[in-house]
Amino acid sequence: MKVAFIGLGNMGGPMAINLVKAGFNTSVFDLSAQAVVDVVEHGASTGNSAKEIVSDADVIVSMLPAGKHVEGLFIGDDGLISHIKTGALVIDSSTIDVATVRKVATALEAHGIAFIDAPVSGGVGGATAGTLSFMVGGSAESFERAKPLLDVMGKNLFHAGGHGAGQVAKVCNNMLLSVLMVGTSEALQLGIANGLDPKVLSEIMSKSSGSNWTLDVYNPCPNVMEDVPSSNDYQGGFMVDLMAKDLGLAMDTAIASQSSAPMGALARNLYAMHAASGQGGKDFSSIFNLFNKQD
Ligand code: NAD
Repeated sequence: MKVAFIGLGNMGGPMAINLVKAGFNTSVFDLSAQAVVDVVEHGASTGNSAKEIVSDADVIVSMLPAGKHVEGLFIGDDGLISHIKTGALVIDSSTIDVATVRKVATALEAHGIAFIDAPVSGGVGGATAGTLSFMVGGSAESFERAKPLLDVMGKNLFHAGGHGAGQVAKVCNNMLLSVLMVGTSEALQLGIANGLDPKVLSEIMSKSSGSNWTLDVYNPCPNVMEDVPSSNDYQGGFMVDLMAKDLGLAMDTAIASQSSAPMGALARNLYAMHAASGQGGKDFSSIFNLFNKQD
């Protein structure tokens, strides 16, 4: 089986390296020459263009910034669609909007090319360790075909439903995560403002009904826990800019389905404000500082 991997950034680079290490015959491409060199050093091959590496590929994996990049690459002017073999499978792991997934999937499948959306959770750490969670949208048959590759890059594989279902699952999860992070942050700051030790308050809430992942294993208050971004000046982890992006996609999804998501809308605005104030590169638990009571 020949694999072509396009988009070798923070996530795609380590994911492609894991495929190479597992013995897949992998050819890679990125607009950044350095990103290509970094993966070729691990044994991947490359070509002069994305078109060149997809022409004999059985499976194509893409990991790009946003929907416009995915649409442009596959079905834009002189897109890859006319260079990919009939019967090939495209796995797009980028986090993008559902409308673009469905547009690209429909166009590719009309050319006899199978498509799944397979966004991930787990960040750069999970991409490097090969422990990502994949949330897949597409046919059960395509999900089965993708499994041997996804198994190498990830640990938890979920088939969420038809085209776009992977992206919907991803934005639902990240919207809930952001709401929990904001709520945990304001509760801890309320306790601190009223004289409580955040370690003691965290212990009480995590053994009580306020227990949740952001409190129990990713505490946003510095020095309550070791080895979390809050205790390292909010470096590493999952960037505010990426959370703001995902919450924008959650809002698009809510509007398109006429769903109400008031907590998600508030969280989106809080993360957009936080990013606009220059905090976009910090971990998303830094939203804790927004509730810091100034004396
Ligand atoms: P990144 O910006 O580091 O990498 C994107 C790469 O795509 C870049 O190297 C860029 O040169 C390349 N690229 C763009 N257009 C291209 C084209 N037409 N042809 C070839 N290469 C092209 O982004 P990332 O952090 O790796 O994220 C990728 C996707 O994964 C995004 O959709 C993001 O939302 C999602 N994601 C990121 C994280 C994370 O923690 N970084 C976690 C989960 C999901």
